Amino acid sequence: MTVKKHDGFGGSGTPMSGTTDGFLEECSSCGQCTSACPFLDRYGNPDRIIAGQPELAFLCTNCTGCDALCPLSLSPSEALFQTKERLIAKDSVSGKAASALRSARSFAERGHKAPFIHYSKTGTVFWPGCSLAGTNPETVRATASLLGKVLETEVGLALDCCFDPLYQMGDTRSTRETSNRIRERLKKAGIERIIVGCMNCRKVFREYLPDLDIQYVLEVLPDGIMDQPPAGKVYLHHPCPFYRLEGITEKAEGMLQNAVEEMEAQRAPACCGLGGNLAQQAPGLADQFTERVTMEACGSTIITSCMGCVNIFLKKGQETYHILDLITGTKPKSKPVSSVIKWANRLKLAQTSRSR
Ligand code: SF4
Ligand code: SF4
Ligand code: SF4
Repeated sequence: MTVKKHDGFGGSGTPMSGTTDGFLEECSSCGQCTSACPFLDRYGNPDRIIAGQPELAFLCTNCTGCDALCPLSLSPSEALFQTKERLIAKDSVSGKAASALRSARSFAERGHKAPFIHYSKTGTVFWPGCSLAGTNPETVRATASLLGKVLETEVGLALDCCFDPLYQMGDTRSTRETSNRIRERLKKAGIERIIVGCMNCRKVFREYLPDLDIQYVLEVLPDGIMDQPPAGKVYLHHPCPFYRLEGITEKAEGMLQNAVEEMEAQRAPACCGLGGNLAQQAPGLADQFTERVTMEACGSTIITSCMGCVNIFLKKGQETYHILDLITGTKPKSKPVSSVIKWANRLKLAQTSRSR
């Protein structure tokens, strides 16, 4: 039995059960997938991790890089994700993973209630996601305004947390329950169309709110509207969830292709080190993930579509821009934004949105 992809785009809303056993039966422990990431490189074949030290699965960032390397077309990333789900369901999480899970819960729950939430009553909204809203609220406003022009309708804001930090750690139950609350909030505000600025939110909503009209911002914006293209050679880093939705890596590449002098684009999933709340559990291992990307960029300016990735690369002193900063012409961040400032930005964005 092959472990199927549970990639957040299946739309079933029901975590699969029993397939990890199938993975263990079929995996030949050939080790070919271990070159995909520093985690497998350090701890060995995924079948041995799952069977012998399942708690190590919490160090997997869910990037899916290993799947493409398996000669048997198995999905070790899915088997590892299901291992996390199983441990959480059995309440068998301890040590640093338990502490990372508590932090993720506290972050998500705080962002999912007043005073940080806001739903405009506009029919169509831009949902930036926590990271973009906290890091660069000017980009959020500019993107909503640009979407309004492109769609020729008023585009308000929906500010809330989709619980992806918990989803990434395998807590699919809490994420599903939260999605149901978000559904009610959207309905109450009369919102019918949601355009999200974060592919992780898109991943969660496609899984748990598959019947709603939800698109990722780059699916909506046309090519050829780069207001502020960077000079010199750029390296395009794709956030991990880009590889779970057909056509999005190509769309980002197309938007940059004619605007920059020279571009190299990432060809396979390579997490920035933020996925799965890895940095809190094993900062040295997370650094190895980050360095893999910065080394591949080889001194070029990095462009990405995830503010989480932007902050991680800026922390390493690597010049990095969010693609929406370039599209909207908003002043990009030159330094990482602290957690305190991010919460203050989110609060201010919610307050000013309510007063409009
Ligand atoms: S971190 Fe990525 S490449 Fe490594 S095991 Fe997890 S999904 Fe696979
Ligand atoms: S490449 Fe496939 S068969 Fe080989 S160890 Fe990895 S998951 Fe198992
Ligand atoms: S921060 Fe970006 S690269 Fe890292 S896990 Fe999230 S989406 Fe992937």
